[in-house]
Amino acid sequence: MRESEAREALCRMGELLVRRGLVHGSTGNLSVRLDDGWLVTPTNSSLGELDPARLSRLDSAGRLLDGDQPSKEAFLHRCVYDVRGDATAIIHTHSTHCAAVSCLDHKPGAPVLPPLTAYYVMRVGDLALVPYYRPGDERLALAVKEVAVKHAAILLANHGPVIAGKSLKDAQYALEELEETAKLHFLLHGHPTRPLTAEQVAELNVHFRN
Ligand code: ZN
Repeated sequence: MRESEAREALCRMGELLVRRGLVHGSTGNLSVRLDDGWLVTPTNSSLGELDPARLSRLDSAGRLLDGDQPSKEAFLHRCVYDVRGDATAIIHTHSTHCAAVSCLDHKPGAPVLPPLTAYYVMRVGDLALVPYYRPGDERLALAVKEVAVKHAAILLANHGPVIAGKSLKDAQYALEELEETAKLHFLLHGHPTRPLTAEQVAELNVHFRN
């Protein structure tokens, strides 16, 4: 994607996420990979009011080349790009239902969310949970990098999701599927529930995921 197109696409995606209630205030940040670095949304910006000319352009090492100061969470994006060659776009939000799931008392080894629907398995797949670290703690970056090798969808505990995609649309669809599945999870609380079986998940992975 040409840089001018990437700038426009990023701003349009920011508006869409605000319109759909997936981000609030100045939370959330988006990025798109370029040939020689990446574009990320600036710090303290509302995703609904982005200016294509003021997006932060960083080199592949994460240094600011031009535009406004990048989001303080830009390092999350860099950690993922560093280890996922297939990622060309990343969306990080504090979307309400995803954030609620991130605050649950998760048992080690158990799925972060049960595979409730086929679309969840196809779009999100195996969601990884990264333990809580205070903002700025460098262990957060290390933990994200470690799980991003195998997972395009990551949930930061007591925080929110980081979703890598082969395109911005791909990341958006995965984020929306995750948010809707998180809603279902709470709607079903207290009801006898039958998630997909391991065989059904394996069958979907054979047919729909590489
Ligand atoms: Zn955040």
